[in-house]
Amino acid sequence: MTYYSLNHNAPEVSFREAVIQGLAPDKGLYFPKTITPLPISFFEHIETLTNEEIAFGAIRQFIGNEIPENELRQIIADTLCFDFPIVKMEENVYSLELFHGPTMAFKDVGARFMARCLAYFNRNNPETRNTVLVATSGDTGGAVASGFLGVKGVDVVILYPAGKVSDVQERQLTTLGQNITALEVDGVFDDCQDMVKKAFLDEDLKNHNLTSANSINIARWLPQMFYIFFAYKQLKRENKPLIVSCPSGNFGNICAAIMAKRLGLPIAYFVASTNANDTVPRFLENGKYAPKSSVATISNAMDVGNPSNFIRIQELYHNDLSEFEKDFSSFSFTDDETKSAMKAIYENSGYIAEPHGAVGYLGLKKEMAKHPGSIGIFLETAHPIKFPETVEPLLGITLDIPEQIKSVLGKEKKSLKISTYNELKDFLSHSG
Ligand SMILES: *Cc1c(COP(=O)(O)O)cnc(C)c1O
Repeated sequence: MTYYSLNHNAPEVSFREAVIQGLAPDKGLYFPKTITPLPISFFEHIETLTNEEIAFGAIRQFIGNEIPENELRQIIADTLCFDFPIVKMEENVYSLELFHGPTMAFKDVGARFMARCLAYFNRNNPETRNTVLVATSGDTGGAVASGFLGVKGVDVVILYPAGKVSDVQERQLTTLGQNITALEVDGVFDDCQDMVKKAFLDEDLKNHNLTSANSINIARWLPQMFYIFFAYKQLKRENKPLIVSCPSGNFGNICAAIMAKRLGLPIAYFVASTNANDTVPRFLENGKYAPKSSVATISNAMDVGNPSNFIRIQELYHNDLSEFEKDFSSFSFTDDETKSAMKAIYENSGYIAEPHGAVGYLGLKKEMAKHPGSIGIFLETAHPIKFPETVEPLLGITLDIPEQIKSVLGKEKKSLKISTYNELKDFLSHSG
């Protein structure tokens, strides 16, 4: 498969090169040159396929022959080492739980897949070292740290905004050691993301083999299609138009869901649900893409003012608002609305939603009201235990601590504080 840069000013590359580079030399995100729908028979028989078979069918064309079939099947099997249940909340409304992986966030899927692809590409070059550089608003760091821990030939450097991630999230990315380093940035998420982008384009760092493990990297982004297929498999028998709502920050998850539809998955409607960071809802209202600095909310993993994947979504809709209107909407919700939803969900169904999932639920309900007879899923993107500061007092409960979290709670935080790009550059120049 060939990938082109969405800035249209860089050479086309293979899957391998796109994964290793992360961002194209012209700062553009890579995008697949072709998207070929799967045969109808794939969907007719989807309920007879295992998750691994479905994932293989969905992603194979994007990799082509750059990873042999058996290796790719093994990468997928190692990636999907946990469950993706859908839980009925109320009539026709389901939560797709994506938090049963090692760090209890959906990002485990993309991070595990990408780490294994990179390990495959490095298999015959023991002297090559790649540095994975990643900015996190919360959950990416932990998932990437866990997914890449101990992967040979790869150093991981994680930038996170000081004081703006939860205690559990911070421990997940600062306590592992080995090939993982956490840099604590005096700033907000967008500052971290800007520094990372700058490093990729810095000529002085060219020979450091930097790549990104944010959803700008295709190997992090594309596997996020998998669980939309798994959800469809479980709901197909209902035979109703399906609405999918993704709580959205960098818009990688929702973009992967749209890709799943382009492969033929029958999704009737998409909802990108956001918190107060409403750049995309505003775009859909007036056609102007006007990013703002991010503001802090209780759904902190979505505190993104300039969502990096939106450019891919614009490509998929040919930059045409009238195309968006056919199957895409985006709504913004306040923290108060989110808290009310968490309470209502708990009172009505006993289900404990965390703030991101609750934003997804709100967007889903809003859109479903316009489509009688539809069925909807919202993505529950993290486990409530990652946000106990919000969840416990609001719902008046004490959460049980799952094993995955217990294992990091007692560990000591290790981070390096930085506040400028030059400090990052210094660090990268003297490592690896
Ligand atoms: C990263 C994250 C999101 C946002 O996902 P995007 O793909 O960036 O839109 C939502 N919820 C949680 C818990 C996350 O960690």
